[in-house]
Parts: sequence; C-alpha cells; structure tokens
Amino acid sequence: MDNATYKALARFVALMTVAVLIGFLQGNIELYLLLAIGGFLLWHLWNLSRFEAWIKAGAREDVPDLPGVWGELVSFIIRLKRRSRSRKRRYRNLIKEYRKSSGAFPDGTVLLDGQNQILWFNKAATRMLGLRKASDRGQSIVNFVRRPEFVRFIESPTEEEPLVMPAPREPGHFYSLQRVPYGRKQSLLLVRDITQEVMVEQTRRDFVANASHELRTPLTVLSGYLDAMVEDPELAESWGDPVREMHAQTARMTEIVAGLLTLSRLEAQEEQENLAEAESVDVPAMLTAIRKEALAVPGCPATVELNLLSDAWLLGSESDLRSAFSNLVENAVKYTPRQGSIILTWESRADGSVEFRVKDTGIGLSPSEIPRVTERFYRVDSGRSRDVGGTGLGLAIVKHVLRGHDANLIITSLPGDGSCFSCVFPASRVAKPDESGAVR
Ligand code: ADP
Repeated sequence: MDNATYKALARFVALMTVAVLIGFLQGNIELYLLLAIGGFLLWHLWNLSRFEAWIKAGAREDVPDLPGVWGELVSFIIRLKRRSRSRKRRYRNLIKEYRKSSGAFPDGTVLLDGQNQILWFNKAATRMLGLRKASDRGQSIVNFVRRPEFVRFIESPTEEEPLVMPAPREPGHFYSLQRVPYGRKQSLLLVRDITQEVMVEQTRRDFVANASHELRTPLTVLSGYLDAMVEDPELAESWGDPVREMHAQTARMTEIVAGLLTLSRLEAQEEQENLAEAESVDVPAMLTAIRKEALAVPGCPATVELNLLSDAWLLGSESDLRSAFSNLVENAVKYTPRQGSIILTWESRADGSVEFRVKDTGIGLSPSEIPRVTERFYRVDSGRSRDVGGTGLGLAIVKHVLRGHDANLIITSLPGDGSCFSCVFPASRVAKPDESGAVR
C-alpha cells in the first residue's frame, strides 16, 4: 500500500475511533459512527468534485489546494504532465531536425500513405517531381507523375526493384525511383538523379555495339579468304596447320561479334520496351525441331527426351526465343557426357504460367558459380568451354531474351549431378492455339 492510501486509511481509523469513544461516552455509538462515516464521505465527495473540476479545466498549473490523498493525486498528475510535455518537446525537436536534414538531401523524398497519397515531401521532391508546398499534400502521387511505367511501379504491391525513367521535368535527365515500405502500409519514395550513371552505361553499350559492328566487315573479308585458302589444294603443306588454326579462330571471333551484336540489340529493345513485335510462337513445334538438331550434333548424349505436357504457345519474338532455347539445349549437349541424358519439358503450371525445363546429367555447377554463369564471358572452365566451342555469351543472351519476355531463369545444379535450367513465362505471355490454328 503506498503512502497516500496508508495515510487516508490511518485517518479513517482515527476518525472511527474518536466516533466510537464519543458515542460510548454519550451512550449512542451507532449514531456517532454513522455521523462520522457520513461526514467522511461528504468530505471526500466535496474534494472529488473540486478534483473533477480541475481535471476538466485541463489540469493546469493553478493547482487547487486539496487535502490528503486528493492533494497527492494532484501533484502526481502534474508530474506526469510535465514529463509528457518535455517528451513532446524532444520529439518535436527531433522531427524538426529530421525535416531540416532531409530538406537538405539532394535526393527527393516523399512519404506516401496506403493509397499513394502524399503525406509529406522534401525540397528536392518539389524540384524533381513538381510538387508544390502544402497544397499538394493529400493528393495522389500519380496526379503528378503520370508516366505509365511509374503508375505501374507505384501501384504494384510487390515491386521492390528501383524504376529508372526519364525525369518528368528535366529533359535529358534520368531518375531512379525506389519505394521503401514502412509502418502501416505507408511507404517512402526515394528519387535519385542517375543521369551520370545512365550516360556511362549508354557510352559502354554504344562502344561495344560500334566496335562489334566495325569488326564485322574485316572479319567477313578474313573469313572469305581463309575459307578459300583452307579448301585450296595448292596451299603449301607448311601453311596447312596455321591456316586451319586462323580459319577456326576467325570463325570463333565471328561468333563472339555476332553474340555481342545480339546482346546490344536485346539491350536496346529492353530499353524501348519493344513489345510491339510480339508474335504467336508455336513452342511445341520449335522444341521438336531443336531436339532434332541437338541429336545431330556430334558427341550428343544418346538420350534426349522431349516431354510436351502443354500445347501452349508464347507471345514474343520467334527468333529470340529460338536462340535462347537452342542455347540452353546446346549447353546441355556440350556439358553432358555421351552416356548421360537430357530431358526437355514444356508444361503449364497451376498459376497459368508456362515453363521450359532443360535437365541434364552432365558436369553440373557449384552453388557459387550459379549466380555468375549469366554474366558475359563468364566461363567456369574457359579451356573446356573453348574446346566445346563456347563463347561465354550464350547464357547472357538467354537472360536478356527471357527478361524481354517477362520471364525468369531459374538454375539448380550440383557439381557431378547435372543441372536444370528452367524458364518460367508469366500467364500474360501465354497464347493458346484454337482448333483452326489461329491464336486466341
Ligand atoms: P559457353 O559458350 O561457354 O557455354 P554460356 O554463357 O552458354 O557460355 O555458359 C557459361 C558457362 O556456364 C559455361 O562456360 C559453363 O561453364 C556453364 N554452363 C552452362 N550450361 C551448363 C550446363 N548445362 N552444365 C554445366 N555447366 C554449364
């Protein structure tokens, strides 16, 4: 029992004792006890009403002079109020500091609620997204940034990858936008000017594309002469081996240049989101042809099985899909010994997506190699890759083709156990042929 309650109880007991004593002397204990309890209650009720009036008036500093336990309650409430006031002041200062520092950020920051309505934004966001001070709060962010890719990005509940798009108000600039969810469905939109990085990347791409393009003509001339020399019966014996080596190396260089040009074209298409060229592709027929071609490759494993569990077609580029699928099958052939086997599967999944799987029993990949094999020129064993005619660009091309078709590449593998390369296409890319052969 705390001090105030103890004192109140002691006072009550003393009052009752006095009442009993007086009652005993006067010969009427009940009457005096009743009077004492009644008086005690009335006293408390009176103090309670003063206390209530003080609380209702906002418990201000002009404290009523209340006795006993009521006085203690009043000072306790005042202490609590002082503490909460100083805490509020501290938080207010913290928020002021945060706003001041985020106002100085070179990056735009916008706080959004669950409906993408603007709760707050900093100075940089004013400049970058064209938001105006207080009047734009409470409005939806899509009223200010209307680009379709931004609307898709901000309205997607799962989008975590940053979006790169042209700056809405600064021609020639590019922004990276990232959404960071926090609290109850709120999110923080961070806008960064990445013009410099985009320019460097563009220069790199242009350089690779131009260099590859420029190399094509001299390589064609070289291959032409070397083709003729290899076939020439009058070629001096001592030149036989060097010319054959030059011929093979030129063919390899031509393949690398072709691969680099394909990658440049795919990257340029991705940038323009070039889906207009999408055609309906008969994947089952394509896979049947790819299997036949694989079996004709010298050294191909005897078993190349094709399981067509779906008749789905795809919406996309026939030549790009063919190149990606052939690449995966060619790799399986290259990295699987003759006594091994390859299983190709085309099947629909429960969620409406479709999957192309290439499973082999070949040399496999270690977990650390898996994330790297889609990088350009990455080869686990470059000597072996060269021996089997690899350029190190195949899987990079596969990755870009799949990205252009909104698909994912999933690789599972264990060294010595074989690998499984799976391409999963979303339902939006599926086309079903009807009976007349036309596509719905
Ligand atoms: P390459 O032309 O060298 O085959 P890719 O880009 O197609 O280049 O593949 C990159 C590397 O990934 C290859 O060098 C090889 O080490 C590895 N790889 C690809 N496919 C397979 C596979 N089915 N089994 C084992 N390793 C593979």
